[in-house]
Amino acid sequence: MQKHTTFNAITLITPTASMTAEVFGGRAKCLQRLIRLDMPVPTTVALSFDTVRGIAQGRMPDIDAVLEPFGPTPLVSVRPSSLDPDWGGPGAVLNIGMNDARCAALADEIGLASAISLYLRFIQSFAINVARLDPEPFELPDDADEASLAAMLAAYEAETNEPFPQDPARQLGEVLRFMARAWDGTTARILREAKGAPADAGLGLVVQEMALGVGAPESGAGVIQFASEVTGAPEVKGRYLSQSQGRDALAQEGAIYLTRDPRGPSLEELCPEIYADLIRIGALARERLREEMQVEFTIESGVLHVLDAVRLPRSSRAAVRIAVALGEQGVIPREEAVLRIAPNTLNDLLHRQVAPDAAREVMASGIAASPGAASGQLVFSASEAQAAAARGEQSILVRRETTPEDIRGMHAASGVVTARGGITSHAAVIGRGLGLPCVVGVSNLTIDTRKRTIRAGSRVLGAGEIVTVDGHTGDVLIGQPGTIEPALDDAFRTLLSWADDLRDIGVRANADTPDDAQTARDFSAEGIGLCRTEHMFFDGERLTVMREMIFAQRDDDRAAALDRLLPMQRADFTRLFEIMEGLPVCIRLFDPPLHEFLPSDRAGLRDLAEALDQPLSDVMERAERMSEYNPMLGMRGVRLGITVPEIYDMQARAIFEAAIGLSEKTGGEFVPDIMLPLVSAQREVEIVRARIDSVAAAVQTETGREVTYRLGVMVETPRAALRAGDIAENTAFLSFGTNDMTQMTYGLSRDDAGRFMSEYVKQGVYREDPFHTLDLEGVGELLTIAAERGRTARNDLVLAICGEHGADQATIAFCRSHGFDYVSCSPFRVPGARLSAARLAVAGRMGLTEPPAKPGKILIYQ
Ligand code: PEP
Ligand code: MG
Repeated sequence: MQKHTTFNAITLITPTASMTAEVFGGRAKCLQRLIRLDMPVPTTVALSFDTVRGIAQGRMPDIDAVLEPFGPTPLVSVRPSSLDPDWGGPGAVLNIGMNDARCAALADEIGLASAISLYLRFIQSFAINVARLDPEPFELPDDADEASLAAMLAAYEAETNEPFPQDPARQLGEVLRFMARAWDGTTARILREAKGAPADAGLGLVVQEMALGVGAPESGAGVIQFASEVTGAPEVKGRYLSQSQGRDALAQEGAIYLTRDPRGPSLEELCPEIYADLIRIGALARERLREEMQVEFTIESGVLHVLDAVRLPRSSRAAVRIAVALGEQGVIPREEAVLRIAPNTLNDLLHRQVAPDAAREVMASGIAASPGAASGQLVFSASEAQAAAARGEQSILVRRETTPEDIRGMHAASGVVTARGGITSHAAVIGRGLGLPCVVGVSNLTIDTRKRTIRAGSRVLGAGEIVTVDGHTGDVLIGQPGTIEPALDDAFRTLLSWADDLRDIGVRANADTPDDAQTARDFSAEGIGLCRTEHMFFDGERLTVMREMIFAQRDDDRAAALDRLLPMQRADFTRLFEIMEGLPVCIRLFDPPLHEFLPSDRAGLRDLAEALDQPLSDVMERAERMSEYNPMLGMRGVRLGITVPEIYDMQARAIFEAAIGLSEKTGGEFVPDIMLPLVSAQREVEIVRARIDSVAAAVQTETGREVTYRLGVMVETPRAALRAGDIAENTAFLSFGTNDMTQMTYGLSRDDAGRFMSEYVKQGVYREDPFHTLDLEGVGELLTIAAERGRTARNDLVLAICGEHGADQATIAFCRSHGFDYVSCSPFRVPGARLSAARLAVAGRMGLTEPPAKPGKILIYQ
């Protein structure tokens, strides 16, 4: 049976039927795979997206044709089948076809009570969902008997002025119409679009013969899976409930374990052969569908039926472990394992957790919707969260449920708690997107927004009190328990080692401190791509010496201050070089305007005057003279290197002496990278290079050791990009500072743009915030010009990027396509960048323009 017109495709699922997920949805396609594997799947008919779209618009297909394969007295279920099962869809409707006659006939087979029970359930579902009646009169009675059936039928008639429809074709038609329209509802659309569904995503439907799950001898329904959805570890899990249908076993009392269990009876003991069959089916599905599946089954009078199998829903941690296990066992190639993990999945594994041994004062619990642990003061509105952020304070935003107006507050908060909502609610979706710890559906939490309190049982907390969101367990904790940094398991490391074997672009870290460098090593960065040295001068003692240097009136005073800074810098670099153990380290010479190091208030200036032993008025006047109207475009970066060259001299000497120290210690040669910030003219590079060369010569003479280094330029002004050809003649590498480059290309202050950026994005002026997502059109064109001109001048020129954009997959794709050597990003983003780079390399080899947006759905090797 196959009926095809442009708008109408109704297909019986057989091993050979033409059945694609793009036309009929993922569930229909999966059912065909199960049928091909000879699994006991009841007769199923699939309705295409076009057919269902037509139904929503009032074009009903030939219902008799749909029912034809189910015989003269059909009894069927309908389930949604969207392209990606994660996009959801209306809930299943079971027992379509139940009517007075069928009930009477079934009573002979399975007993009157069981037959009436099925009929009641269908009437209930039809009345509430399809006829949209008030649920109250349709609550299921304790006893399924003729009286309760008569009462429910009468209630239906009373509410609708017509008897309950008896014709299976009419029943099915109405169910199909209800499901097709439900898909078009606003809430359904918003929810699926939040999961990446396109605006025009279609819904397919599958109509399947009911396997009853009631009657004798053993009948019932259950769900089985073969790995933990939390950890991904192999484990048979699920429940079975005698005399039940659908997924009831997962929710209802009386459900038994699947595997033998000391806590109670199990299916393994009750029906050992069926249990063994399920284990076999699970293994077969895993191997042949190349995925960890969750199987819905029914036992009807001792016979097993497989109704459905879905990709096991899973946490991020489980996703990685499952992909790695499938890869290690040869079920999928390693390349595919890498493609199956979206880079932001790793963020979940990288988040902070509440320490397992910390005292936990649980106030309330809900659904763990977004991982991580965060503490902060209670706030009750987005604006309070923003105000707390402006004061530099952490906050936890508590809302009954969140709406799009809360997004700015969520950005500002450290964690979010909602009383309502589930794993797909707005707060949960946004929380995960932002990497914000989030607990939703805390139903025992009463929020009083007027009094600004939350209450759970007898505990009441008010605004400003400290709570902790545990996004791993779903707990809301009172106070601030200790936290631990994430423990990265073997699967995480294995996946990333595969990624490293596959990727074809380097990944370094931006690291300024020994801690950063250690994190970079822990995440297997291939070196430091940017060490912002100014961060080393903000420490108490150094800051004072730095200020003395800035205030020095005479050259010898300045030299004296720099002499004191030299050993500190040397120690900094020595430590970095030691941690990086010979991996490349790129040190950027001093960048910010000097006055950033001066106190901003009167008390600070007075302290400084005291420390310098100078009159306050002199210090104030000098500080005043140093201030600039546009400091980010003023005396900073290489301009300092030209006008106050002693600072760079000191830094170069510290770098060389530290490098020599490391070479002596390890016996190997260590060549540091030195990078000049904010270059805009070739001559700047020539002048500074000559000074650094003379420092190198001096150190060489003093130590008798050869001094080598690589000089690079940070390309972060549009002019440097345009003149990259000249600049390249004097440099070994160019590293693009896309933060400043974006600022200067747009003429947009990176410190102030936040004020209007959301308005700009909302009005579509910018597609995205260019400080978050690299502007491939404008900034990208400058980078392209620079890369081409630089490489033309010098074909061994190393190209890199070190702005915040460096970890994004789209930026990495750009860098790969322009032959860049490496990207450098903050240490915690290194794992994601390694994975993104590998995914791009694999996708490229397969001829895909980009890696699948939804890994795991597209079984590309089949
Ligand atoms: C940049 O401008 O992109 C950069 C990496 O340097 P910074 O952020 O320190 O200005
Ligand atoms: Mg910069």
